[in-house]
Amino acid sequence: MATLLAIHRPGGRTQRCDARCYQATLGSECDCVCGGVNHAKGLQQALILTRKQVQRWIEAARRRHSDIIGVEIGVEAQMNDLFLVEDIVANHENDHQDGRIMSQ
Ligand SMILES: [Zn+2]
Repeated sequence: MATLLAIHRPGGRTQRCDARCYQATLGSECDCVCGGVNHAKGLQQALILTRKQVQRWIEAARRRHSDIIGVEIGVEAQMNDLFLVEDIVANHENDHQDGRIMSQ
């Protein structure tokens, strides 16, 4: 199970974006660190969205919580220029569909 982003806080309070988020069923509750962006998107789309937006999610988490002790970005979700170029081309249409979320 790939964790895309984990935000660690004291006392074992770790918030993750993982399969419970990106493989969730549409319409179910989500209060994930990704802000619901990856929710029910499936792994491939979630990886692409995470590469593009993960820094924004980390900044948002740091604004909400001053006690963050660690941030982990999943290996597969880390920025990779080779993959990124292909992903941008391959997922151009999806970007438009996601415009509502992306513009938040
Ligand atoms: Zn998530």
